[in-house]
Amino acid sequence: MEIEIQLTNRPIAEKISPSSQLDSIGAWLEFRGVVRGEENGEKISALEYEAYPEMAEREIRRLLEEISKENLCLAAKVIHRVGIIPVGETAIYVGVASRHRIEAIALLGEFMDRLKQDVPIWKRRALPANFAGDDVGSLIIPQKKLETPHVVSCKSLDEAIAEIISCCQPMSPVRVSLEESFGRVLRETVCAPEDLPANDRSTRDGYAILADDVAENFQVVDTIHAADWKPRQLQHGEAVRVATGAALPCDGVRVVMQENVERDGGHIRIKKREAGLNLRKRGEDVKAGQPLVPAGACLDAGKLALLATAGYAQPLVSPRLCVIHFTTGDEIVPPDQTPKPGQIRDSNSFLIRGLLQKFSCDLEQSHMPEDFERAKSQIANRKSQIGNADLVLVSGGASVGEKDFTRPLLEWLGLEIVFSQINVRPGRPLIFGVSGSRVAFGLPGNPLSHFVCFHLFVATALAKLIGAEPEKFLRGQLAEKLNDTPCPRETLWPARLDMAGLHPLAWASSGDITCLTETNALVRVPANRGSIDAGTEVEFLTT
Ligand code: AMP
Ligand code: MG
Repeated sequence: MEIEIQLTNRPIAEKISPSSQLDSIGAWLEFRGVVRGEENGEKISALEYEAYPEMAEREIRRLLEEISKENLCLAAKVIHRVGIIPVGETAIYVGVASRHRIEAIALLGEFMDRLKQDVPIWKRRALPANFAGDDVGSLIIPQKKLETPHVVSCKSLDEAIAEIISCCQPMSPVRVSLEESFGRVLRETVCAPEDLPANDRSTRDGYAILADDVAENFQVVDTIHAADWKPRQLQHGEAVRVATGAALPCDGVRVVMQENVERDGGHIRIKKREAGLNLRKRGEDVKAGQPLVPAGACLDAGKLALLATAGYAQPLVSPRLCVIHFTTGDEIVPPDQTPKPGQIRDSNSFLIRGLLQKFSCDLEQSHMPEDFERAKSQIANRKSQIGNADLVLVSGGASVGEKDFTRPLLEWLGLEIVFSQINVRPGRPLIFGVSGSRVAFGLPGNPLSHFVCFHLFVATALAKLIGAEPEKFLRGQLAEKLNDTPCPRETLWPARLDMAGLHPLAWASSGDITCLTETNALVRVPANRGSIDAGTEVEFLTT
């Protein structure tokens, strides 16, 4: 059987040409799965599909070959669209050629039944009727090698970061108001719709006269306030009273500050002219069509002011991330409690809450009992909500102790584990899981490991999800000696960065937290390196 498979982000054509096999006698049966305007009783505007393309193609081929053994057909053509598919448009097209229509109908029926179960293409979500995003961007997820619990591989720092980058796709953007855009990543390059300023404007309260008019006395022929628009050709000997920001009456003028003018009724005498013209020329700030803010920029106060000036009231930005964070460990008590012997106060919740401030997210935090069955029943009624979060973080329980259940918990939540160990100090047990475009991390419980793993790995995943560039290692000089004994693992060493360079901070164990009060950089110490002298150039990450 001739098989043709396409996974595409683009709309599927209205007319698809039949397979070449149709030249020989037979039937060409066509099926189109069109997105309906309702999902689970709710009105929707679109469905979002995602796929692992290679695996999906392989499975579709396997399915067709298997089914065609029973229902002998000549050819099949399958086109599946992924990304956001608006209501009324085709999500899947299947064409089947066979000698008799009955075989084509049978093959198609069985194929459609099994497609949902066997092929890694998911309906990610239904977009509500008022969805404002307009990007039909790619949701084809590059295929990754998943870790099976039997084959645990220990990733190097670079390998782990590369895996995270390849697994995380930018989320579909949305249009929101400027008020809601602060801190979000802009997902389109915004260009100036017109010259800024849009016309020549006075920068002073004063009098506009022709720039080449050398007279001393002038007749005041008009007044222009900031909101007025009164074009007129000035003559020699004429002046117009202008306010700061007022549009000037014509070309070729200068403004004399009112402090340098004596006014007498309808006349003025200019005592002194300033050297400058006291005006802003049209397009002096930026010309129409020039880029104002590039896609990928994080919208801070200055950029929002610029978008407002340019009239971009609804920028296309990344959606807010939905993040769920669980702490684990029966020894953990809230900070307002006095720990009994053996207990410690929860610091990771506050570390995570603070570190996430840099990203626009809605965060839910809760504590789990240190028993897998009890933990599962505690969150059973929220399982699908948790499974739909963009990011799930679990603090502690990431190792292989008998009470460490983060890995099975993430698997129970539907995540596939990509890796579960990294060759990095601090932070060896680090679990990374994915499910479609959702990601999860099981972080080692010690606060310093948490801090390091967040900056190295979680922040990288978050940056990818929101369409920003992940932070890169920079190069800088050690201002003081870094005292270490050679360690077979690469180390991320807390440091304070100032004008003199990097000052390594004291820490002995990943439970040490006092150094975090000063840490604003992590120095990358190569495996087996040991101490590094002051003045040496090193790689570091800002935190
Ligand atoms: P675990 O990764 O669960 O083996 O935990 C390693 C260490 O981190 C243990 O000493 C825990 O008590 C500590 N730890 C775990 N969770 C927290 C937390 N939320 N706040 C502070 N320390 C924690
Ligand atoms: Mg624990």
